[in-house]
Amino acid sequence: MGRVFHPSGTPPISPSTATAESPFRSTIGQRFLPDSVCTNPLTPLDLVLSLLPRSRNQNFHFRDEVLGMAMETTAQDFGSFASVFYDSVEICAAHRNVDLSHLLGHVIAHELGHLLLGADSHSCRGVMRASWSGRELIAVNQGILSFSASEEQRLQAVLTFRTQVALTGR
Ligand SMILES: [Zn+2]
Repeated sequence: MGRVFHPSGTPPISPSTATAESPFRSTIGQRFLPDSVCTNPLTPLDLVLSLLPRSRNQNFHFRDEVLGMAMETTAQDFGSFASVFYDSVEICAAHRNVDLSHLLGHVIAHELGHLLLGADSHSCRGVMRASWSGRELIAVNQGILSFSASEEQRLQAVLTFRTQVALTGR
């Protein structure tokens, strides 16, 4: 079946590697103010996805075919940080003749799926499959690689729970 591409790696990363943006941004005036998005604590409804170049990927000594990763979570924490390696996605799209925007979108969906579905969220088929080969990449090109019905139910339940916690604090 040829090379197999892994939409996600599993090594945990520190938040500092997941947020590459500056904590300050320019205002219309000449002074800098803290960006409230960066200084306010994350809520259960905040998901931070970093689009990183391949060089960051290589710093983690990942194989070239790893296209993204998500921070592992514990039972007490909500997953909030994920990264996608744009250069690796671009290379994969070119080598496998897959539409770049479709592949990028599916990799992002896979990593956000990890954040919302939690530990052990890989499945044997669909967008949450750990490794994408020919069949999955054809579906990616058609824009139809999706979550399973069971995953969709879990995603809805998680989002409902996260919303409740964000609103009530418990
Ligand atoms: Zn994965």
